[in-house]
Amino acid sequence: DHNLFTALRAAFPADLDAVAVETDSGLHYSWRDLDEATAMVANLFGFLGLPAGTRVAVQVDKSVEALVLYLATLRAGLVYLPLNTAYQSAEMDYFISDAKPAVLVCAGRNFGWLSKMAFLAGTQYVFSLNDDRTGTLLERASQFPRTHTPVPRAANDLAAIIYTSGTTGRSKGAMLSHGNLLSNARVLQTYWDWKKGDVLIHALPIFHVHGLFVAIHGALINGSKMLWCAKFEPQTALRMMARATVFMGVPTLYVRLLAEAGLNTQSTRNMRLFISGSAPMLVDTHRQWQERTGHTILERYGMSETVMLTSNPCKPADGERVVGTVGQPLPGVQLRVRDESGRHVQAGDTGGIEVKGPNVFQGYWQMPEKTAQEFTADGFFKTGDVGHIDAKGYVTIVGRSKDLIISGGYNVYPAEIEGYINNLPGVDESAVVGVPDADFGEVGVAVVVPKAGHQVDGAQVVATLKGMLANFKVPKRCVVVDALPRNAMGKVQKNLLRDQYKAT
Ligand code: ATP
Ligand code: MG
Repeated sequence: DHNLFTALRAAFPADLDAVAVETDSGLHYSWRDLDEATAMVANLFGFLGLPAGTRVAVQVDKSVEALVLYLATLRAGLVYLPLNTAYQSAEMDYFISDAKPAVLVCAGRNFGWLSKMAFLAGTQYVFSLNDDRTGTLLERASQFPRTHTPVPRAANDLAAIIYTSGTTGRSKGAMLSHGNLLSNARVLQTYWDWKKGDVLIHALPIFHVHGLFVAIHGALINGSKMLWCAKFEPQTALRMMARATVFMGVPTLYVRLLAEAGLNTQSTRNMRLFISGSAPMLVDTHRQWQERTGHTILERYGMSETVMLTSNPCKPADGERVVGTVGQPLPGVQLRVRDESGRHVQAGDTGGIEVKGPNVFQGYWQMPEKTAQEFTADGFFKTGDVGHIDAKGYVTIVGRSKDLIISGGYNVYPAEIEGYINNLPGVDESAVVGVPDADFGEVGVAVVVPKAGHQVDGAQVVATLKGMLANFKVPKRCVVVDALPRNAMGKVQKNLLRDQYKAT
């Protein structure tokens, strides 16, 4: 049996009464609680007689019961489909009619309109689940037995459909199998050197790869306790660090922690590992973190379609952590870089990143043509990210192929220009996008956010860059704004910036 739940369950510690999850509101869940609660929900699903492959769509606030629902879906052999809690009616309508789930679980406050929408799309059952342990899902499940035999699954059977963040366009449903998820969890357990006694601070949302798979599988496959935050709150996370060893965050979480005066070597001395990913971390953030805590953040790279692909080393034997890179391909992952004409580039040269491995997904949900387009003839997945790999195997991401600017026939990589701009005095962050231009085909526009209390002059930024960089790389205009547009995952939406600045 390749059911991911079976593997996670096998890693539970012998003492089932030990604490598995402790929440920021003071609740304690033992390993036995997780086992019994997932059995009850899985038994409910079994009772409903849902066929294999059935999707269970879930849009609920973060809670340990939502974690139970995820594990129960695996256990029952069904396909978990988490949805961002920020999604509103137009988005939910798209996801529900696209995924056609047989079951929808939603927050009680949304039950009225969402159940109507789901029933119209053919969904059979709609349950509610609130973050205070109320709702019809748990009411119904409470009538079912506390033991359950996991439904056997093959390695290629689907475990989850994860919709991509929609940074470059409409979200696509990435189909991940039990084998995809389990192989990645096992590789990371070794590569990140998970030890007996490790304790994870879980502060990420659980509708996305980072919080749902990397964090949860990481702790569970190691039988490790989680300190669970319903929402990220820097002071709570900081307090938890005294009793934890591993923290995972997107760059924004680190920036918010850096704003806390209490962040120092003392408050982080129990911590073994800080991991960052989902978006590029500024070199400045890495450096500040090192200065304040003495820890070097381990940056890694992955995506909905592949779970984790590369990581900076954890153990000294695997090498050093190189700030500004996303590390080396994980064991079992083949990663190569090719240029637009399909030629393999030399070490250090930039091109499209392609990957192959047991972690690579089964295709986009109901998009066979799109899936076929994104794979090469020899079975590599084209990530859509542009980067280079050095002689030691460290990968650097310089942007996405869709964000690449081709100006007068030259490739301009936005991340390179952004790096220079971010180092200018008074600049907090920036985004460089390409807009149509009659002479050059495309030219760059820099959108810059000043640091609080600072002023930045756009014309001055352009003038400074002219003294530093080849002319074709220098943005033709620089606009200063209060904030960059971000999607629900906190990623900069360059498509919006391109639209906004193309006409003017
Ligand atoms: P969509 O595919 O819908 O446009 P998305 O690519 O943002 O959205 P995700 O699968 O959530 O959706 O994000 C994966 C992407 O996030 C990667 O392809 C990469 O561009 C980016 N990413 C992840 N980790 C890092 C990192 N450490 N550094 C830079 N970029 C990263
Ligand atoms: Mg993507």
